[in-house]
Amino acid sequence: MKKLNDAITELNGVGPKKAVALNKLGINTVRDLLTYFPRRYDDMSLIDLKQAVDGQKVTVKGIVLGEPTIVRFGRKRAIVNVQLLVNNSPITVSFFNQPWIKKQIEANTEIIVYGTFNQVRHQIQGIKIIHDGGNQFASIYPASKEIKQNTIQKLIQQAFDDYQSVIVDVVPEKLRKHYHLENFHDTIYNLHFPKSPKSAQLALRTGKFMEFFLYEMQLQEMREQKRIINSVAQIEIDDQSINHFIDQLPFQLTNAQIKVINEIKADLKAPREMNRLLQGDVGSGKTIVAAIAVLMTVLGGKQAAIMAPTEILAQQHANKLANLFKDTAVNVGLLTGSTKPAARKLLLPRIEDGQINLIVGTHALFQTEVRYQNLGLAVIDEQHRFGVNQRKALKAKGSAVNLLSMTATPIPRTLAITMYGDMDTSIIDELPAGRQSIKTTWLPAAKTNQALAFIKKQLLASHQVYVVAPLIEESDAVDMKNATEIYERFRTIFGEEFNVGLLHGRMTNDEKDEVMQQFKQGRYQLLVATTVIEVGVDVANANTMVILDADHFGLAQLHQLRGRVGRGADQSYCILIADPKNKLGKERMNAIVQSTDGFFLSQKDLELRGQGDLVGSKQSGLPEFRLGDPIGDMNILTVAANEARQIVSEKNWQSKPENVQLAKYLQTNKLNNM
Ligand code: ADP
Ligand code: MG
Repeated sequence: MKKLNDAITELNGVGPKKAVALNKLGINTVRDLLTYFPRRYDDMSLIDLKQAVDGQKVTVKGIVLGEPTIVRFGRKRAIVNVQLLVNNSPITVSFFNQPWIKKQIEANTEIIVYGTFNQVRHQIQGIKIIHDGGNQFASIYPASKEIKQNTIQKLIQQAFDDYQSVIVDVVPEKLRKHYHLENFHDTIYNLHFPKSPKSAQLALRTGKFMEFFLYEMQLQEMREQKRIINSVAQIEIDDQSINHFIDQLPFQLTNAQIKVINEIKADLKAPREMNRLLQGDVGSGKTIVAAIAVLMTVLGGKQAAIMAPTEILAQQHANKLANLFKDTAVNVGLLTGSTKPAARKLLLPRIEDGQINLIVGTHALFQTEVRYQNLGLAVIDEQHRFGVNQRKALKAKGSAVNLLSMTATPIPRTLAITMYGDMDTSIIDELPAGRQSIKTTWLPAAKTNQALAFIKKQLLASHQVYVVAPLIEESDAVDMKNATEIYERFRTIFGEEFNVGLLHGRMTNDEKDEVMQQFKQGRYQLLVATTVIEVGVDVANANTMVILDADHFGLAQLHQLRGRVGRGADQSYCILIADPKNKLGKERMNAIVQSTDGFFLSQKDLELRGQGDLVGSKQSGLPEFRLGDPIGDMNILTVAANEARQIVSEKNWQSKPENVQLAKYLQTNKLNNM
């Protein structure tokens, strides 16, 4: 019998290679694919050009006047021009670099063209010719180098055809009726293949509710679990050794760190599973707090795991911790997606028999083949990059796993309750003594030369510099091209005297690690990078960061990026190059210049987003949802949270007939919120 949780390889035409490429997009199961929703819909219904504005995407039907002409430039470039008679008025359509399209156009026939309208010249730059009646709304998905738009569209169609009969509703009928929601089958259909903008919108409303509701149900589950008395979760604390370890650190813990360590210690000692969120600004020293929790656990005879969102971070943690723990009983192992099979084969048995008692890694940590001897503590770094279900999956790796989630992006209390209501919170609200605050300035692009002169000065003083390439959300490919161009520019300027490196998201993990290592070792003095460097990367000698088109980033993200400098003893600098186009953009720039306080900035971020500023909403420190936006859709979120709470408050809710599918979903579906 088919199940939505079937692996993606069950579909025709998906072999191992394609599966890997799909995995990279977060698609592992048929459910993942069916809930991989369009980024946007292109409206391909016919339009009256008199109503169209300049630059608008339009679809027109017209008669071809005469033969199309083709002009070629060199081997690859060509323009096909064709005159169309649309509503009795002639217009020129030009197709760039699609020479083959000429064959599809015949004089005196009727064709439908989709393209960009140029009002001034009264022309259309053609994108494609639409052949059949087709769907009027083309669903456009986030694609990748290996998985093209076309492929995704086809796969989703196939998955829907094959699996639509097993799409069952998990949201109880009572709720669906009460809030006028569609069933899950129709929601999926209408989000992928909408007949009109309206039908997509209605489905979106249901989809958001469902996503939030299932998220909140999982939160409630975790909350319940926290209450259960379970002596297996208890860790016996070896105070003497812990104090000794703290005494020999090269620095004094801050009061805030000590307070938080005590909160964690109390949790670990208690016969209940810890579920704690540790908030602390960039550089506040969360890692050492986590390390002490790890040491408590290991000395108490259990294993600990630390999960980070990227390989670079995992590697960095593993190195630092191995060094920190070299005179202790802690044995560190590193396990990520790119751990080579041979190394993996050595590592897994040592995790299983407990020889390795601290496992650092990425989400590879909760793969099925990874078995722990007795996992007692799981630390999740940059926790907002993981979903509640991933927290759950890691917890499922032991019989009583204490959980410590860490984040550098604090969120206001009200929202914290809805988003992280399952966790207790600890806050490090103090930076280590002697930290100099980063000097931040904002320059318009016209003054870029000042920034270049400053960079040179820092490089000559043997410091290292980051240049952050602007964020282009279009696609990885565009991002890479853009970063590469900037890299070339900086190499032209600085390349004679200094070594310039490049880091972007299209590189393999090995390549990224290589570049980061080179930068750390000072082989590169200047590093041009995309936001890949964002989290946790630690190079003390890098004291200057220049962020290009800084207004393209959200506040939380700028704060995170800036946190890459200011890690050493020297004065650090951040230069923002930006010409923000509106008031909100200017406010964002002023806020980041004015403050280095993460709590202030996240509050400001939410405030500006409340005013309609959606730039960089992705990195606001909130969990990411497929459809919903916790701020923009706060109404739906609140309702969903209340309903989930209501359901769980009823005794034996799992066995009530109306909740059977819901309970089953929560049991079987570990990694997807829909
Ligand atoms: P974050 O909270 O951003 O993860 P880290 O844990 O990476 O910050 O700490 C940033 C730097 O500060 C590290 O180099 C760490 O060794 C150092 N550090 C941590 N705690 C203290 C302290 N109490 N005094 C001085 N330096 C500290
Ligand atoms: Mg950190």
